[in-house]
Amino acid sequence: MPILLTTPIEEVSPAARRHAPALRALGVANAAQLIAHLPMRHELVEAEATIDRLEPGRIVTARGEITATRTVMKGRRPRFEAVLMDDTGRLDLVWFNQPFMRQRIHPGLRLRVTGPARAFGPGLQIANPKIEHLKDEAEPAATDSRLRPVYPASEDITSAQIDAIVRDALAQTLPLIEDHLPEAYRRERAMPSLSDAYRLMHQPESQDDVAAARRRLAYDELLLLQLGVQMKRAHLRETLRSPVLRWSEAIDRHIRERFPFPLTPSQDQVVEDIVSDLTRETPTNRLVQGDVGSGKTIVALYAMLLAAASDHQAALLAPTELLAEQHYASISRILAGSSVRIELLTGAMTGSERSAALARIESGAADLVVGTHAILTETVRFASLAVAIIDEQHRFGVHQRATMRSKGTGDTESNITPHVLVMTATPIPRTLALTLFGDLDVSTIREMPPGRQSITTRVVTPDRSAEVYSFVHERLDQGDQAYIVVPAIDTGDGDVNDLRTVHARLEAHELAGKRLAAVHGRLKRDTREHIMGRFREGLIDALVATTVIEVGVDVANATVMVVEHAERFGLAQLHQLRGRVGRGAKRSVAVLIGEPVTEDAAARLRAIAESSDGFVLAEKDMEIRGPGEVFGIRQAGAPPFRVADLARDLDLLAMARRDATAWIARSPALAHEAEALLRRRLLKAHGKWLGLGDVG
Ligand code: ADP
Ligand code: MG
Repeated sequence: MPILLTTPIEEVSPAARRHAPALRALGVANAAQLIAHLPMRHELVEAEATIDRLEPGRIVTARGEITATRTVMKGRRPRFEAVLMDDTGRLDLVWFNQPFMRQRIHPGLRLRVTGPARAFGPGLQIANPKIEHLKDEAEPAATDSRLRPVYPASEDITSAQIDAIVRDALAQTLPLIEDHLPEAYRRERAMPSLSDAYRLMHQPESQDDVAAARRRLAYDELLLLQLGVQMKRAHLRETLRSPVLRWSEAIDRHIRERFPFPLTPSQDQVVEDIVSDLTRETPTNRLVQGDVGSGKTIVALYAMLLAAASDHQAALLAPTELLAEQHYASISRILAGSSVRIELLTGAMTGSERSAALARIESGAADLVVGTHAILTETVRFASLAVAIIDEQHRFGVHQRATMRSKGTGDTESNITPHVLVMTATPIPRTLALTLFGDLDVSTIREMPPGRQSITTRVVTPDRSAEVYSFVHERLDQGDQAYIVVPAIDTGDGDVNDLRTVHARLEAHELAGKRLAAVHGRLKRDTREHIMGRFREGLIDALVATTVIEVGVDVANATVMVVEHAERFGLAQLHQLRGRVGRGAKRSVAVLIGEPVTEDAAARLRAIAESSDGFVLAEKDMEIRGPGEVFGIRQAGAPPFRVADLARDLDLLAMARRDATAWIARSPALAHEAEALLRRRLLKAHGKWLGLGDVG
């Protein structure tokens, strides 16, 4: 029976059937998925050579006669050794944990062996070589060097077995692969066809082949993503409108008079960008990035007040209740005595308190709403939401932005949508921002407000804990305040690092006599607000907290930050935490107590100690974790790239982006006959997470 791309893996070949469970476990369930199971890399297998010409560090092939063997049972790994000789020299062979080799190999046997060669005494050794018996001495030498694909494999199936199965299936399956890009289009970009790309990936003759194949496949991934994002954008632009806000010098003056300080030039620039956005009916999608403490809140407030000045509403969304409460408190202070009415809405609110707030939001009695993602729930309706601001975007997914979009007015049939601003302290390189969000404009706050003190950061091992806390004690004696951050709250397993244990220990020992309080996400809102209020007033010396204080908390008299088990935190998180201190005129110190057990954790702690620049750290973070992890590609729900690599394919990305822009300008819905296959593949890959269903 002929193979189709949909043929189940069992029916592809007898070998595929034998290994079907192992293949399925690797995500290969049919012929198409077999072809799409790409090698991670390729190894150069050198052409067969005489032993004297073999070089260490390469995958070599040689032939000769076995002259000696022995089994070594010593040590943890029993091994079997053999010596292979030809006219030019001696090659040592060794097999670990394969006692049966003793039955297969004996002196006098003529073999061809292949494997990675390494220096061994004066000669070379191959560990676990592949062997072929040479029955017929005339058997030709494998003359050409060859690139051997290395596949993602498992305990149940080796890369070599996958190689054989793929090899076997290629001839029949490759012709079935249709290309979604027209030939002329490919030619212009010097790209192979899709089926050629797969063939070259599985059976390249050179690294150039691999590069060409990779380029096509990576481009495809990036192009499809860009087309999806831009198709969505075109659709939104065409169908959605946002309220046009009024701006005048009088309004501007009015807003600024309320602010407790003049804006920095950087903040002014961002305000200018935002004003130009909000005074148009095209829905705004702007990312405002600025390091921890650079002053994003005030810029957000400007945008909110601009909405209020035009009799519309604005919402500010925070990732945590604590931060929402903080924003609410600080904005309320700034607006005290004004006619602007502000509402707090968090998930912790229940009953009549909540329904009263909801009613004020729906009637328009509330001008500004500050809340957690609870604002996003279905039950919240706005009278006229003109501006939605998402604070600390890195902690949200993209789909929240989309949900906010649908909140324009109470009328769900309407095509009115709010302007959306997202704020983040995790700087996103522009190209990446465009990839992920496609439709996002970016503004950056580059400078810190005046009078900031630099923060001294120390990374120490846990054995110096006593020293650290005696330093904290001294600082508290001088009237300063401190944060002590602990990874988890009570885990129930007696984990000594949990918040309660640390709190109790500090209270009884290191910080005995000081006023401590614990803050975490499971506290009731009232309790937490009460504690935070007392901390702000200086009635508490030190807060023992989980990462609920990671963002937004702003107390100038707090000058010491201790992070317990710092190795468990992410780099962005550590930087955010550190940003809680250094907010006043006094020199601040961050002490990270940690004992990294992984290389990544060690790298994070080195990075945080070396730099206090959020942009530098974001780059480091990307190096350590990869761009997908850092920028929430996964969180956003986008399928992970299989071939494309955002760190190294930036040029290809720029090209895909240009091409997608031109394409969508020509054909906004990809509705032409010739685009049917492309459209189908695009919707399959991105339709769901981008919500492209409504594009038709
Ligand atoms: P982030 O960008 O991390 O959200 P915030 O908006 O919380 O930073 O601002 C950090 C601190 O800097 C706050 O105490 C805020 O009042 C203060 N601040 C912001 N802008 C200025 C400014 N232009 N001049 C003086 N202080 C400022
Ligand atoms: Mg902030």
